[in-house]
Amino acid sequence: EVVTRFAPSPTGFLHIGGARTALFNWLYARHHGGRALLRIEDTDRKRSTAEAIDAIIDGLSWLGLDYDAPPVFQSERAARHAEVAFQLLENGHAYKCYATTEELEEMRAAQRAAKQPLRYDGRWRDRDPSHAPEGAPFVIRLKTPDEGETVIDDQVQGRVTVRNEELDDYVLLRADGSPTYMLAVVVDDHDMGVTHVIRGDDHLNNAFRQLPIYRAMGWPEPVYAHIPLIHGADGAKLSKRHGALGAETYRDEFGILPEALFNYLLRLGWGHGDKEEITRDEAIALFDLSGVGKSPSRFDLKKLHHLNGHYIRLADDARLAALVAPRIGPAVDQALLTQAMPQLKLRARDLDELAAGAAFLFKSRPLALDEKASALLQAEGARDLLGRISALLRTQTDWTVPALEATLKALAEELGLGLGKLAQPMRAALTGTSTSPGIFDVLALLGRDESLARLDAQAS
Ligand code: GLU
Repeated sequence: EVVTRFAPSPTGFLHIGGARTALFNWLYARHHGGRALLRIEDTDRKRSTAEAIDAIIDGLSWLGLDYDAPPVFQSERAARHAEVAFQLLENGHAYKCYATTEELEEMRAAQRAAKQPLRYDGRWRDRDPSHAPEGAPFVIRLKTPDEGETVIDDQVQGRVTVRNEELDDYVLLRADGSPTYMLAVVVDDHDMGVTHVIRGDDHLNNAFRQLPIYRAMGWPEPVYAHIPLIHGADGAKLSKRHGALGAETYRDEFGILPEALFNYLLRLGWGHGDKEEITRDEAIALFDLSGVGKSPSRFDLKKLHHLNGHYIRLADDARLAALVAPRIGPAVDQALLTQAMPQLKLRARDLDELAAGAAFLFKSRPLALDEKASALLQAEGARDLLGRISALLRTQTDWTVPALEATLKALAEELGLGLGKLAQPMRAALTGTSTSPGIFDVLALLGRDESLARLDAQAS
């Protein structure tokens, strides 16, 4: 059985890179009919916050990533981590190190002076433990192999080799009995039955340090897949400026739909031919690690926006209305908004653009006019034209789009004007702006009374 996990450190929100890692893990598990697990790596108590934990869990569920067990909290498992450290001590794969802080500082200073890599030199590795200072504090260090090499057949990076002499005997358990991150990850992955470790390639070095624990414990080793990091559109490391923001920022501030972000993240580093649009089920059916590229992918907010527009056009109107209503104001008529949605969504790339496009429906009279709208109304003859239109529409009994269209087309012909010339001042008077859905839709959505009142307010 395939078991994957997403293991965020709750020191920040669910940023774009984390969300993609979560997505790939989830898809891999679903593709193989396995289990997707979630582990909150909250061992850094000072930097982990409850707010970040909530934001991560919230962001994952917004993206539609569900998990097959409640989240595991790493901080609750410290006793188990310590237990494994002592087992490693017992079976000879770890040792106690009594080196003091000052001593280690001296060691590093000497290494620095000799331009050697700064690395624990193994001074307690082969020392007779009976020489240990009685009652003195100690840490437990892993006895990493010092000869030969360690090879990882990474599912994304390919075969990667490290000489074992480069691996230091790092600390597993601190003097205060608390586990280090490196130990905690391995013990948790093993205990959770994780078979595939899919994570950012900034953790590739850790894999070489983590594998010796599996081997020392005789545990089955996981398959590794280290995926390239995400860069900004300019090729530089992803920063806030590039959109390295929490999922809730995309949802709340940018008005992105979850299915758009899901799709965008999927295509970020995973290629499957030219297929533009991939549904959730197709993604599950198609996803595999062989499609994950080796080079960093570039995050492009413009592309995400473009894709979002596509998903807005596919989305259900009532759902969109519910999402957009709070962006317009309190107590917005969702039924009216739903009715307007087929027109509004033709242009919008995000929920704010939808809200802006719908705002005219809920404006109160006298309508505030934007600059372009007032310019249109000040144009020569515009107000007279509105007067004619209003008088004509007052006789209109059938207030539907086709009927309104027929009436106004006939008027345009009679006046020898293009329909656009008619529509411009109408749009300004009816919406207070110069862009809106089609003018007949605007009339139909506003209804007879409101339309006539708005036209009259600007007519002469
Ligand atoms: N907690 C680590 C992080 O957020 C991930 C560790 C792992 O995936 O092994 O970067």
